[in-house]
Amino acid sequence: MPTARAYAIDSPTGSFYPTTITRREPGPTEVLFDIKYAGICHSDIHTARGEWGPVNYPLVPGHELAGIVTQIGSQVTKFKVGDRVGVGCYVDSCGHCDICLGGQEQFCREAIYTYNGIGRDGLPTAGGYSTSFTGEERYILRIPDAIPLDAGAPLLCAGITTYAPLKKWGATPGKRVAVVGMGGLGHVGVQIAAALGAEVAVISQTRSKEADGRRFGASEYYALDEPGTLKKLRRSFDLMLSTVAAESDLDALLGCLKINAVFVDVGLPATPVSLLMQSLTGGNRVLAGSQLAGIDETQEMLDFCAEHGIAAQIETISGDQINEAYDKVVKSQVRYRYVIDTATI
Ligand SMILES: [Zn+2]
Ligand SMILES: [Zn+2]
Repeated sequence: MPTARAYAIDSPTGSFYPTTITRREPGPTEVLFDIKYAGICHSDIHTARGEWGPVNYPLVPGHELAGIVTQIGSQVTKFKVGDRVGVGCYVDSCGHCDICLGGQEQFCREAIYTYNGIGRDGLPTAGGYSTSFTGEERYILRIPDAIPLDAGAPLLCAGITTYAPLKKWGATPGKRVAVVGMGGLGHVGVQIAAALGAEVAVISQTRSKEADGRRFGASEYYALDEPGTLKKLRRSFDLMLSTVAAESDLDALLGCLKINAVFVDVGLPATPVSLLMQSLTGGNRVLAGSQLAGIDETQEMLDFCAEHGIAAQIETISGDQINEAYDKVVKSQVRYRYVIDTATI
């Protein structure tokens, strides 16, 4: 069986260490690829540190994989050796339930996550902090030539997480869209919303990212640490996309929606949030959530990003910097996504 170098962690309070893992020999419809780059998503940190429930240690996280195909199974039709490919948050689903047929495989009861899951072979799945990966061709994405593999890797999670709700809830020309929080998710969301033709505002904690926000395509920028910011923005937006994991004043944010407008959360605050229902009823407003998308829409997102020159702004790190990178992500000190160069693993 093919072996891969990897970085794993053994406990919620442990540190990442270099190790070797095995990958499956590709089956008839499977593809083996060399991972070149892997993004570090905040979800990796929540999972690795046991904050989202039970973990199968040792854990190799990573669900933003980008690389090059090295071997294909006998019945593979979608890829050939040398193709540029990526894998996002899940690697399998049943393929025939209503949810799969409806194009939302991420919610299939049999969906298998890229790491901390159990694969069809009965073995724990291991993610992108490693040098190779074997997966079903159906769940592998094509990375267009126009997208660099390093800055493109984060699109596999951050890109689709923001693209799907922006598209679903109508970020279109003539609409005023606010992206709340501009970190790993938000900085991609701003670019996508702008490319979809919407007028984009960033609502961030401070002014420190204003120049970046405007470079990513925002035409307005607001800082929450300036008194009265949200009051001034009452009934301003057709759509708000919250990428903030920290607690925020949800009633004040909902007040910034126009009548019949939509607030979508993708930031997943760790603790329950509270709100006054009047913040919704007083304007027929909608509070929504969104999680990833199906494989077809994920490919559509990659093609869209290629067409519009969208990628993450990244800081490339080596395998031995993962521990330090985790602490910096938690402290919001990354601009804007860490990507591991797997040649250093
Ligand atoms: Zn993620
Ligand atoms: Zn299914």
